[in-house]
Amino acid sequence: MMFWDLKYFLLVMLPSLVIGIWAQMKLSSAFGKYSQVPVDSGMTGAEAARQILDHAGLNDLPVEEVPGELSDHYDPTKRALFLSSGNFHGQSVAAVGVAAHEAGHALQHLHQDALFNLRMALVPVTQFASYAWMGVFFIGMIMHFHSMLWIAVAIFSVMTLFQLVTLPVEYDASARAKEQLFRLGLVREDERAGVSKVLDAAALTYVAALVGSALQLLYYISAARNDRN
Ligand SMILES: [Zn+2]
Repeated sequence: MMFWDLKYFLLVMLPSLVIGIWAQMKLSSAFGKYSQVPVDSGMTGAEAARQILDHAGLNDLPVEEVPGELSDHYDPTKRALFLSSGNFHGQSVAAVGVAAHEAGHALQHLHQDALFNLRMALVPVTQFASYAWMGVFFIGMIMHFHSMLWIAVAIFSVMTLFQLVTLPVEYDASARAKEQLFRLGLVREDERAGVSKVLDAAALTYVAALVGSALQLLYYISAARNDRN
């Protein structure tokens, strides 16, 4: 069994690549479209996020600008919201939607959302797992030490679990975003549909990541099962 054999390419790499590219294309198209649609309120992404945070009592949580495209994120360790320049200054449905989504993560943190906390706790474990599993797997293969393959599989499964937990956290952040935007009157009813399209497309990239990780996990399980000699 090799990592880079044809079966691996056809069963894992190719489908992961196809669904990954498909998700990216959906996101690019939705984001491209709605970053050209201005919000009626004339609000920037930064202003929308600020309003949502202030309304939740998070007046001291900073909203900062970061370079890059779609580099927007909420950093729970710094307790700060970072928006890419385009979304920070943008007055579009897409910019306001993404900014509100990141504010949604800050609300999850504030409300001690269980899955958000679990995801946060899994970050360092996942980082360790992403390095450790391959080393253990290779040593197991080379030394024909069968049980090490299963240890590698177990370590890898932490990464799949992380992707699995990420998914509901992302959908929940988007749901909170839409609710807040509408409740605070930051977007109109018809604008909300555009926000949904952008955020749903963004969530697809997390679905793609989960599918890729799950395919890899299944492949390694079958590789470990077949390695009986
Ligand atoms: Zn998110």
